Amino acid sequence: MLTDSTPTESLRPQFWSRYTLSELNHNEWEALCDGCGSCCLIKYIDEDENGDVDENLVEYTDVACQLMNCETGYCQHYDTRQQYVPDCIQLTAEKMPNMMWLPEHCAYKRVYKGQALPDWHLLLTENAVITQQQMHAANIGIAGRCVTETGMSDEEMETRVVNWVNP
Ligand code: SF4
Ligand code: SF4
Repeated sequence: MLTDSTPTESLRPQFWSRYTLSELNHNEWEALCDGCGSCCLIKYIDEDENGDVDENLVEYTDVACQLMNCETGYCQHYDTRQQYVPDCIQLTAEKMPNMMWLPEHCAYKRVYKGQALPDWHLLLTENAVITQQQMHAANIGIAGRCVTETGMSDEEMETRVVNWVNP
């Protein structure tokens, strides 16, 4: 995520539309994430006959990973998360072909597909308050509306499919 401590000189102008994901530097890569938390939700993913993710069949639940703080929408131990959740996915440019389950607004998916960033993205507004307000208006973000997977049965999980996250 773009933060106050991100050195802005490390971000090349309009990098999201001028370079591919594999050409981005570390800070550019991190700045693409809007912090929505959607990728930390449990989802059901189907593959087509070629083994590729069928976006039309992806279903998100409002059930979040055990490390998610569902109030704030942030991972409680992001820097050390692999110790707790070894299968937490580290997005890379190489993995993107298999990441099409990401939500349609996710900047990594959009840049990969050659699409524009959402209008509300912080890289465009350069104003965190405006971005937050517009993300809320666009119904994006899991803070305050997810539940933890801890203690949840598979049967209950299946009843928690939501329609506010879509690939
Ligand atoms: S869905 Fe994309 S933009 Fe949202 S938190 Fe995950 S990686 Fe970041
Ligand atoms: S470990 Fe953290 S970043 Fe990874 S899925 Fe869980 S909450 Fe998200």
